Amino acid sequence: MDVATFLFEEGKRRTQLLPNPNTYAFYEEPTGYSESIYTLEEKCKKLASGLLNRLGLQHDQKVLICSRNSLNYTIIMYGTLMAGGVVSFANPEYTPRELAHVISDSDSQYIFAQTAFLGTIKEAIKIAKVDIPNKNIVIIDEKLRSFNGHMTIHELYCDLPFKRFEIASVEEQENKLAFIPYSSGTTGLSKGVMLTHRNIVSNVIQNQVLGAANRWYSDKSVTHRFLAVLPFYHIYATVIILAQGLATGIGVVICEKFDMKLYLECVQKHKITFAHLVPPLLIRLINDPLVDQYDVSSIRFMKSAAAPLYKDLIELIYKKFTTVEIIQLYGVTESSPSVCATPRNNKDFGSSGFLTANQVVKIIDDDNKELDYNQVGEVCIKGPNIMKGYWKNPEATKSALDSEGFLHTGDIGFVNKDGQLSIVDRKKELIKYKGFQVPPAELESLLLAHPSVADCAVIGVYLEEQATEIPKAFITLRSQHAGISESEKQKLAGDIRTWIDSKVVSYKKIRGGVEILDVIPKSAAGKILRRLLRDRENEKLKNK
Ligand code: AMP
Repeated sequence: MDVATFLFEEGKRRTQLLPNPNTYAFYEEPTGYSESIYTLEEKCKKLASGLLNRLGLQHDQKVLICSRNSLNYTIIMYGTLMAGGVVSFANPEYTPRELAHVISDSDSQYIFAQTAFLGTIKEAIKIAKVDIPNKNIVIIDEKLRSFNGHMTIHELYCDLPFKRFEIASVEEQENKLAFIPYSSGTTGLSKGVMLTHRNIVSNVIQNQVLGAANRWYSDKSVTHRFLAVLPFYHIYATVIILAQGLATGIGVVICEKFDMKLYLECVQKHKITFAHLVPPLLIRLINDPLVDQYDVSSIRFMKSAAAPLYKDLIELIYKKFTTVEIIQLYGVTESSPSVCATPRNNKDFGSSGFLTANQVVKIIDDDNKELDYNQVGEVCIKGPNIMKGYWKNPEATKSALDSEGFLHTGDIGFVNKDGQLSIVDRKKELIKYKGFQVPPAELESLLLAHPSVADCAVIGVYLEEQATEIPKAFITLRSQHAGISESEKQKLAGDIRTWIDSKVVSYKKIRGGVEILDVIPKSAAGKILRRLLRDRENEKLKNK
């Protein structure tokens, strides 16, 4: 089945089975704009009709969404799928250079955007040297009925009949793309991740099986609600919050982004039962005194994913929120994303739990030899949710997916004898700042373009008090700077940091600073010895 048909059919079926069905599928705060699953489906159909009849969308063409979280985001996603298009995602806060990469790499022919990002989009289109006419850039601010030179989402909605996209064969189910989110994978720059209709439908079902097995929704006296504050362009929100909420008949409250006061107001007002978070937000909820001024007792489950949630932090959460249960999820964009989750009454704090249905894990050493229980190695996953590959990048696909179909995640972990998976480290180059991906390769290539930098390496340094890594750069200087004083070095390092920070979105900024070294440590084969740099930094932090 295709994603949109599955989500709406399954969602309507489940909604009808609920003793107290939610009045809304999605509710946007603070605007109060909402849709039931029925009215949402109608709007998605109108959008699909507009895409086909008014904009001439062809099957498999790419539609890029460049917007903050909003209810309209969901209409565009499902409407595009109903029309047979493929949805790609961009962080709206990207600089024009970053956005240009996604626009040109994804081959997007249509862009749906909020007006706030129109300037960046136009600049990005110029940098990308692609031809996307204004008529294909649709304005999605709910309040705007018309906008100079562009069509608005309201003008696009169309009642003309259209042929809704449906999967015709098993082969199509396995090959037809639904989403192309971006991830750097284990190395290099960010790449389009080809997620098929089968991948997404499978992962939603895998999450439903997980929910049933763990009796997440078994208390029928409760009306379950999700709160969606994590960015919709990240797969955690796209599938685990939005698609999952829709298919399970759970009302999802949407906020543009995380804002503590609004978050707490939403929890209290909507009696949120599931809080989907990342470790740095959990720390803020523990420490912010504002939390005590609100009734957050409706929260039954706090789900954490996108970065490691360590034992110490879990203990602090349980101390502060005595009635919640924490669920740690592990996954990667390439696995659509759920791989495993902790069970009810989990005692193995810090572990990521058991595999969701229909997946197999193998742990391998550096020679690709399979390891036994409790032995630490690279985590490899196989299942119907594993991506088809990287968009237009067969080489990266080949190194990510082995001949048996396992995805090499680049994460280091082990499986205990009960079958519980723990992630203990990362082999890949990726840095995660508050759950956002920061590819070191991107910062390194920018650094190398600076006239004073001869060589460089960027690593992630873990800050316990914020439960996140921050990027730190090491550089060596070009010969013209030989013999400069310590204070001149400090000034230059500061200038280089400012220069880099002006070229990237906020979460990629080099918050750990720039340090000048005499030489970047490398292996005999010329590979940066990141571990050495990381160990050195960790040692420094310990001795602080
Ligand atoms: P993304 O593709 O942006 O979701 O990033 C996936 C990466 O985030 C994984 O490869 C891990 O390095 C990290 N990650 C996600 N969930 C967890 C978790 N529960 N524990 C440890 N690392 C995680």
